Amino acid sequence: MAVLPIIIAPHPVLKQVAKPVPAVDQRIARLMDDMVETMYEANGIGLAAPQVGILDRVIVVDVHEKDEPPNPIRMANPEVVWASPDLAVCEEGCLSIPEQYAEVTRPSAVRVRYLDREGQERELDASGMLATCIQHEIDHLNGVLFVDHLSMLKRGMIMRRLQKQQKQKATA
Ligand code: ZN
Repeated sequence: MAVLPIIIAPHPVLKQVAKPVPAVDQRIARLMDDMVETMYEANGIGLAAPQVGILDRVIVVDVHEKDEPPNPIRMANPEVVWASPDLAVCEEGCLSIPEQYAEVTRPSAVRVRYLDREGQERELDASGMLATCIQHEIDHLNGVLFVDHLSMLKRGMIMRRLQKQQKQKATA
């Protein structure tokens, strides 16, 4: 497994739509494993392939509590097949928008269909943080970032803060 470099916004690859995976072959299984390692290394709870510059519809998530063992979920071609009518507001962050957080409103529960690491079709009912995280990662596959759910004003503020922070990092 390998830790991959994470792409920081604004970057054109983060605005592109990722392509469905024809099958979970060795390359995709390996990409999933590398993404899990990259997510853990960055202390994230989710990662989508475009964030490492790869436009395949692959995401990984792990929302386990600190005192629980790791529970990574690897998904290819994830698709929301049902979303609850009731909404939840959750504070979100993103490994591609480091150290910036904002409240985003989304369906509070979803059912997701996907292919697992073995290429088996599965369905998962998710609620709470897992539901938020999966929707955030699927957004990445469609070129959508969590700041795109905010008002233009809030998004502008966050992106300016991010740019300033990245500039300071570059000169530090
Ligand atoms: Zn993200």
